[in-house]
Amino acid sequence: MINQYTVDLEDLQFATVICPKCKTEVTVDLAYDKNRAEPNQRNPVIPSKCPTCYVSFDSQIRMGLESIRDGYLRIIGQDDALVQFRVRENDDDEDKEIRA
Ligand SMILES: [Zn+2]
Repeated sequence: MINQYTVDLEDLQFATVICPKCKTEVTVDLAYDKNRAEPNQRNPVIPSKCPTCYVSFDSQIRMGLESIRDGYLRIIGQDDALVQFRVRENDDDEDKEIRA
């Protein structure tokens, strides 16, 4: 049986990237974009290299995270709709609902 639970968008504020080489975890706040008012200035969501071992993070991951942050900020700035995500569970626990 597949269960689902819901997560409000604002609860998905933080994303973590794990370095493929040394497993350092870099957690970013998707609600923070210091250059949002200046879209012509590049504002990377994560550094280009791991802060511990300096291996480069995949550019597709970096660009994807920037798109996710942009989408997050577009949606979270609206007051007229609540966006939720549904997370699948594959065990037989009862549905869990997480709300802000
Ligand atoms: Zn590393």
